[in-house]
Amino acid sequence: MRSRALSDQGGNQEIVQDGKHVLVAGGAGFIGSHLVDALLARGARVVALDSLLTGRHDNLAHLAREPRFELVEADVTQPLPPLPRFDRIFNLACAASPPHYQADPMHTMMTSVVGTNRLLERAKEDGARFLQASTSEVYGDPEVHPQTESYWGNVNPTGPRACYDEGKRSAETLVFDFERVHRLDVRVARIFNTYGPRMRADDGRVVSNVVCQALAGEPITVYGDGEQTRSFCYAADLVEGLMRLMDREATPGGPVNLGNPREMTVAELVDLVTRMTGTRSAVVRRPLPVDDPQRRRPDITRAETLLGWSPQVPLEQGLEATIAWFAKEIRPPEPAVPSLGRFVGSRPFQPAEPALGDLVRGPT
Ligand code: UDP
Repeated sequence: MRSRALSDQGGNQEIVQDGKHVLVAGGAGFIGSHLVDALLARGARVVALDSLLTGRHDNLAHLAREPRFELVEADVTQPLPPLPRFDRIFNLACAASPPHYQADPMHTMMTSVVGTNRLLERAKEDGARFLQASTSEVYGDPEVHPQTESYWGNVNPTGPRACYDEGKRSAETLVFDFERVHRLDVRVARIFNTYGPRMRADDGRVVSNVVCQALAGEPITVYGDGEQTRSFCYAADLVEGLMRLMDREATPGGPVNLGNPREMTVAELVDLVTRMTGTRSAVVRRPLPVDDPQRRRPDITRAETLLGWSPQVPLEQGLEATIAWFAKEIRPPEPAVPSLGRFVGSRPFQPAEPALGDLVRGPT
C-alpha cells in the first residue's frame, strides 16, 4: 500500500491511504456515485466524469467540499477534457435504463463504442488499470439459465435494445482487444439488475417504478404477465464487487458476472413492495416491451472464486432502504405559507445523503 501527499501546495495534511488516482466515468450516476463514495472512503483521489444526461449533481452534492474529489462535466463521445494522470479507470458511462438508453439510441451506441475507446486510449497512455461496466444485457434473452460468462448470448442486433446490448458487447470486444494488442490490464464486470438509493424516480426500471407508484398510491405497472424473472442486487453489494474486481492483482482473464442470484418474477417483486409499503395501489397490465428478456439470473461462481464475493444484503433489507430513500425523494415540498389545500410546485433541491447508510458493507 502506498501513501502519497495530496496537496500540491507543499503540505502533507492529507494522505491518500490507498495511493490511487481514480477516474470514474459515469460517476454522477446511480452506481457511479456510490462507487465514488466508496473510493473516497478508503482514501483515493477521485475524478468523476459525467455528461449529466442521466447522472445527477444531487448524487454528488454531499462531496462539494471534498478536496480529493472533482466532478468534470463531459461527454465521452467527444474528445476528453484535460485530466490528471490516473492509476485506475472505471468506465460506467452510459444510460442504463431501457427508456433512457432508447431515447437517443445512436448516442447510446457511440457512448459505449467511441466513449470506451477514448477511455481505453487514456488508460494506455497513463498505464492505468481499466474496468469496464458491462451488463447482463450481453446475454440478451438467454437460452442458458442461469447465465454463465461462457455463454455468448442471444441478442437481437436490430431491435430497440440493440443500441445498448450491442454497444456494450462491442465495448467488451474493444476492452479485450486492448488487452491482447496493448497488454492493457483490464477487467469486465457484467452487471445484473441493481437497485438502491439514488435510482432516478423517472428511470423507468421496475424497482424505481413500482416503489414510486406504490408510495404515490398510483397504479403499479406490470409489463406482460409479470412472469418474467429478474435477480436484484443491492447497490452496496455491487460496488463492493466492482472494487474487488479492480483490486485483484492478477487479471481475471475474461468477464465476471456481478449480481444477486436470488431470482423472482416481476409479479413477486410487486407483491413484496405492495406488502412492504402497505400501498392500496392496484396493478395495471401494460404490453411487454419488444425483446424483453424472459428469464435472468447470474451464475456468480467466478466472482465467488476469483474475488471471494457474493451479495450480502437480502432483498427485503435493501428494499427497505430504497423505499425509505424514495419516500424522501418524491415527497412534495413543505408549503412555505399555510397551504391552500392544493400543492403546486416542484421538488426542492435536496442534497443526496450518504445514501447506502447502514447497509454499506465492509470486507467480508
Ligand atoms: N417492468 C415492469 N413494470 C415496469 C418496469 C419494468 O413490469 O414499470 C418489467 C420489464 O418489462 C422487465 C422487468 O420488469 O421484464 C425489468 O425491467 P427493467 O426495466 O427494470 O430492467 P431490464 O432488466 O429489463 O433491463
